[in-house]
Amino acid sequence: MDHVRAELKRAGYSPRVVGFPFVEYRESVEKGIQIAPIRRELRVEALDYSPSTPKGGLRARVVAAGNGCESGDFEGVRGFIALARRGACFFAVKARNAHNAGAIALLVFNSEPGLFDGTLGDPRASPIPAAAIDGAVGPELAVSSSSMVELELATHRRRSTSQNVIADTHNGVRRVLMVGAHLDSVLVGPGINDNATGVVALLEIARVVRKRYPELAVRFGFWGAEELGLFGSRAYASTADRRRIVGYLNLDVLGSPSPERTVYKGGPFAARWLEHFERRGLRVGQIDVGGRSDHFPFDQAGVPTGGLFAGGYPCYHRACDRLANVDLAVLDELAAAAAFGVASFAPIVRD
Ligand SMILES: [Zn+2]
Repeated sequence: MDHVRAELKRAGYSPRVVGFPFVEYRESVEKGIQIAPIRRELRVEALDYSPSTPKGGLRARVVAAGNGCESGDFEGVRGFIALARRGACFFAVKARNAHNAGAIALLVFNSEPGLFDGTLGDPRASPIPAAAIDGAVGPELAVSSSSMVELELATHRRRSTSQNVIADTHNGVRRVLMVGAHLDSVLVGPGINDNATGVVALLEIARVVRKRYPELAVRFGFWGAEELGLFGSRAYASTADRRRIVGYLNLDVLGSPSPERTVYKGGPFAARWLEHFERRGLRVGQIDVGGRSDHFPFDQAGVPTGGLFAGGYPCYHRACDRLANVDLAVLDELAAAAAFGVASFAPIVRD
């Protein structure tokens, strides 16, 4: 963060460091046992922001609830553990439906064999404990009417603070294009592709815009605490400032080797970006990033959004997300595409 601020100053900006509060979350116990009709251990993973179960766990019959996206899916779950299939809607929606129908906990099974890492997205999203289970056992639990499960989760939430760094090409203009990238990484790795690549691309664009295209009205957002739940961009998108923003472009993971180059699906920016790649003879696709990066709070606030993403990265969210595993030529290519996006979409200030 200090580095970004110093670089922005050197480029002639007056960056603002804006603090925001958020809730840090972690788990210390995640235990599941199937008791009937057979006894076996179940691998479970609490959905992020799940409340804890009572100490010692809870034990109840499991009742299948389809994909859990409609309240009608939860017939007969009162007092029991609801079991929903992953997909079709946010986990928070399934959890709220389960709670409203009287379930004491929610299990979500994967759509393929294995566990998954899911989040409820918000500390207030679910009043009942909610956990992911293996896609290989979920369907079995769902068909048996005598499945009993014991579930114990101990989760912890702590108030914390982090910072965004915001810089503007002009002060007080009525309409501005915002471009952003998150500064933080997951704890298990250094986060070079995710997301030092987005950050350096953004810094470089800031430099070039200042020097060569001073007529463009652009705001740069370097977000804190993205990996913990989009907290920085959420905090920013909830301020009145967002009303000046004509569009938000997101840069997250730009340097994957042999990348699946993608632009965020939908929104008013995708078509021009696709053209940009195709003109250069580069294969490109579209991706639905959903709620998984910093464009999402802007989406929800009604700001048009777009973004770039180099998919297919084997070291995503792993310790090997190091400089040696990033393709700098790909980063160059996507940073150029990002710059093209800024130059094409930013409003022009005439003074
Ligand atoms: Zn990221």
